Order: sequence, then C-alpha cells, then structure tokens
Amino acid sequence: MIEKLAINGGKPVRDTYLAYGKQYIDDDDIKAVVDVLKGDYLTTGPKVKEFEDTVANYVGAKYAVAVSNGTAALHTACLAAGIGEGDEVIVPPITFAASSNCILYCGGKPVFVDINPDTYNIDVEKIEGAITVRTKAIIPVDFAGQSVDMDLICKIADKYNLTIIEDAAHALGSEYKGEKIGSIADMTEFSFHPVKPITTGEGGVIVTNNEELYKKMLLFRSHGITRDSKLLTHNEGPWYYEQLHLGYNYRITDIQCSLGLSQINKIDEFVKNRREIVNRYNEAFKDIEEIITPREDEFSNSGWHIYVIKLNLDKLTCTRKEIFEALQVENIGVNVHYLPVYLHPYYEKLGYKRGLCPEAEKLYERMLTLPLFPKMTDKDVEDVIRAVKKVVDYYSMENCPL
Ligand SMILES: *Cc1c(COP(=O)(O)O)cnc(C)c1O
Repeated sequence: MIEKLAINGGKPVRDTYLAYGKQYIDDDDIKAVVDVLKGDYLTTGPKVKEFEDTVANYVGAKYAVAVSNGTAALHTACLAAGIGEGDEVIVPPITFAASSNCILYCGGKPVFVDINPDTYNIDVEKIEGAITVRTKAIIPVDFAGQSVDMDLICKIADKYNLTIIEDAAHALGSEYKGEKIGSIADMTEFSFHPVKPITTGEGGVIVTNNEELYKKMLLFRSHGITRDSKLLTHNEGPWYYEQLHLGYNYRITDIQCSLGLSQINKIDEFVKNRREIVNRYNEAFKDIEEIITPREDEFSNSGWHIYVIKLNLDKLTCTRKEIFEALQVENIGVNVHYLPVYLHPYYEKLGYKRGLCPEAEKLYERMLTLPLFPKMTDKDVEDVIRAVKKVVDYYSMENCPL
C-alpha cells in the first residue's frame, strides 16, 4: 500500500526537522575555547602555530597556514601560485562557488571542465583538452570527500608545468591510495565551516610541502607585511616592518584554533561514524531502481562530507523538485550540492553559457543530498531511509496508476 505523503496531508515520518549537516561540540571543545578567552592571546598567539602543526602532521604535510575561512585559504593559495590577470585555471563546475571565485579574485579566468558522471569529480580525461598557453593551475575538488585521481592530475600538471591547488574542503580525513589527502598537491585547502569534517566556527587552512609557497602564504595572510630581516629592503630599527605585497587580513584567532585543536582529536571518530552511516544508506537503497547511490573509485577512501544520491528520473513520475519538497515536509533536511557554478547569474554575466558542461547539468537535475553528520542517531538514519523509501515509492513509475 502506498503511504500518504505529509505534503498531501499524511503524517510526517518525523515530528522534528533533521538538518542535512551539523557540527558536534562537546565539553572539551567548550573548555578549549574558554581557556583561550582567559589567557593572554586572542589572536596571533601560540594556538595558531600549534593548530597548524597538528593539521600538517595529521595530513602528512610539512607546512600549514591557518586562515580565517576556506575561501580565504583558496585565495591565499592562488596568490602564492602567482595567478594573475588573464591566467586560466581549470576547475570543475559541481562545487561551491569559492573553488572558482578565488580565481576571479586574482584576475584569472576559471575554465570549467566537466565532471565524471559516476564519481561527480572532475573528468580527468577532459583536462588536457582544456589546457592552453595561458593555463597556470588546476583546482581539483574532492567532491563529497571522495579523492580525485591525484597521480593522473600530477602527470598532467608536470607535463604542462601547472600548479595544483586541491580543494579538499570536504575531505579532511579522506584518503587517496591509503594516505591522508593533503600531501600530494602543491597546496591543499581544507575548510572548518560547521558542516565540514571538523569546525572552528569559520576557518580554513592550506597545507604544502613547498617552503617557498609556505612563506608566500604567510605573507599574503597578513597584508604582505614582514619583519624578517632577510626580506627587508633595509632596516630602520627594532620597530621596523615593510609591506612587500598587497596581502590581506586573513588571520584566524587563537579562539578558533583552540577549538580546532580540540576538534581534530575527534576527526577519526567523526569519519568512522560518517562511513558507518553511509554504509547503512547504501545498503538500504541498493535495490531501489529509482536511486543511484554514490560510487567510489578504488583508490579513494572517502570521509563522506555529504551523502548525495542521484535520482533515476526515468523510473519516476516526477522531477527532483517534487521529491525534495516532499522530503522537506516529512521533516528530512535534504539539500542540493551544487548548481554548476557557471550557471550562477554572476558567471552568466561573465559570458559562461548553459551547455558548457553537459554531465554537470544532467547531474544537477538529479542530485539530492541526504542528512549526514557524525552524531546522527540510529533513529535519525532510519527516519531518512524510511522517508526516502516512502516518497520514492509514491512517485515510482511502478506504482503509477496509468
Ligand atoms: C565550504 C567550501 C569552501 C569554502 O569554505 P569556507 O570555509 O566556507 O569559506 C570551498 N570549497 C568547497 C568545495 C566547499 O565546500
């Protein structure tokens, strides 16, 4: 029997709304923040370096620069890579706008390369076709936490002398070929926004093994100002500093870094929980023809920042919109990640046109993000599964009276 949907006046699967993502803060996190508030340094103090060293150590990179948010991290990386007026940078369209905005901030031109329809990551086979004499860098995105194939991307980058800035905002704790993401690209960015794998409220970091890039990023984080006697053009005394580049104030506070230090203690547990929930979802949906569960390449071990299903519209009597709306009324906080970046009005004004990346556009019509966060209860997970089955059943072609 087909259950009456909440959107048609039936009883919702849940009484309370379940968000699609949510931070987890415990007493240790709260204590870590309070301790800094009671101390001497609110910013530019010891917690920043301690957090940077901890992140670098966790991902297996030599250096880390913590900044005010993930977008600032990407911008700082682009500045260090020397991206400027007229430079082209390759980026996938199924991502948050920040992956591409950072190129525009530097006067560069984002060149969108379509996605692989199975993994939703950039289609590596299509990268070379997009390279021109102006191409300077590639910004691959580890979508949902799934690693891109870095060996292949490095090969292309080597051949054309391109910088790789990996946008791993979704992927702290994820692995590529058994190693944590963060030690392969020239620079790798992570975000600490509350829905991301760990949080500092707002925050971001860039990790690198390259000392020269590291030093540049330190400068760009703080106005391009230095006190380093080796960099000064001359020295007028102990008070003296110089601005060498047009940098920014992208500093992060000790309050945030102290929270980050406490959060990163829990990353492995968070990732473990996320993987368990994803396994339950995959198992529950595996025989439902209307739903395509995420596919992971064998070289990747995702930490699953988000769980994205693809709707098989051929088997449904409705579009993604009806399913989205019906699930919302069942009190399941579904979401969509993402509208292809170049379809935003701002990008359309820059001249990008519909049809540029057909696979991304096709995926966009079908994708749906289900709730996923480390501290979801068994009941939360069951509610999502039950609601998805209920709504999909209702709109299934199989049950269509015609
Ligand atoms: C969240 C996110 C960012 C930016 O991070 P903020 O910390 O929110 O500035 C960049 N890229 C992707 C893919 C993201 O999801």
